[in-house]
Amino acid sequence: MDNFELQITTPQNVIAFPGVTLPLNPVESKSNKRKTYSGPISGPMYQVVKSLNSKYQDHFDYSIYDTLFERFGNEQPRGGMVYKSFIKLLEAEDCKNCFHRFEIDTYGRGCVFNCAYCYAKSYLSVRKYWNEPMPFPVDISALRKIFYTVFETDKNHKFRKIMAKRTPLRIGSMSDSFMWIDKKYKVTQELLKVLRFYRYPYIIFTRSDLVAEPEYMSLLDSKLASIQMSVSSINQPLTRIIEPGAPDPMKRLGALQTLAKAASFGKADASVSVEDFESKAKTFVQFSLPFFTEVLRDYDENSIGPSSSSEFC
Ligand code: SF4
Repeated sequence: MDNFELQITTPQNVIAFPGVTLPLNPVESKSNKRKTYSGPISGPMYQVVKSLNSKYQDHFDYSIYDTLFERFGNEQPRGGMVYKSFIKLLEAEDCKNCFHRFEIDTYGRGCVFNCAYCYAKSYLSVRKYWNEPMPFPVDISALRKIFYTVFETDKNHKFRKIMAKRTPLRIGSMSDSFMWIDKKYKVTQELLKVLRFYRYPYIIFTRSDLVAEPEYMSLLDSKLASIQMSVSSINQPLTRIIEPGAPDPMKRLGALQTLAKAASFGKADASVSVEDFESKAKTFVQFSLPFFTEVLRDYDENSIGPSSSSEFC
């Protein structure tokens, strides 16, 4: 493909997502000299990215992987310190009609928010892959290769069909991509840059105020981004127990307010409108009460039992 534009034939019963035919965004294609890497993990990744010869010139610091590798020395975590299965299309029959079935994580095998009701936690804990000892970053070179193959070549790729339609990617599935550790590793920041470059739409699912930090907001494109902030309750003693590692709910509401002032990003779960978020937030908390009745009862008895977040699916 020479001009990297996609012409999609839209079946009659499918409405094309706005912006299907778009050139690459020139913002990230400046050819500033990029650092080279030769560490045990960064070296092979850098070679992959270099071999792509992509128009997108990343300035990602691949040495973060070497730093993590050195940190564990002779006791590398089971499964390694790079998370590989980070993008997936949910194929189960009951997922087929869901707008959120194409999903991506920037960290895997854990989430520091550690919610009591998390389905990923219950699924991975029994396999001893939950926060053992921490969530690990995804392979940025593999991410780059997917987008490069689909949008800069004609080669086959298992996600070509769905990505060519620019089916929105759900960011945050088995882990929250906006954990504050991303300030250090910047993997989510890199994903946002890649999505902006390829003009790829996405829906952020988060429980974190990090999304409204200036260095993240500067990467969000309101034409591509939709944001869903999950606020399960504004009862802080309760949230400290059911979402022990997650940011304070008032910080999350504050982040929504910041985002709303800056641009017309999406809405919070259960239609919390950000114009009058205080009163609507109370309404949302009432909506969530039936689900949390179980947790509250356990809380009173001073023992939180495992639950499931599938109610939010
Ligand atoms: S923020 Fe999401 S992924 Fe992280 S523990 Fe909570 S429910 Fe699980």
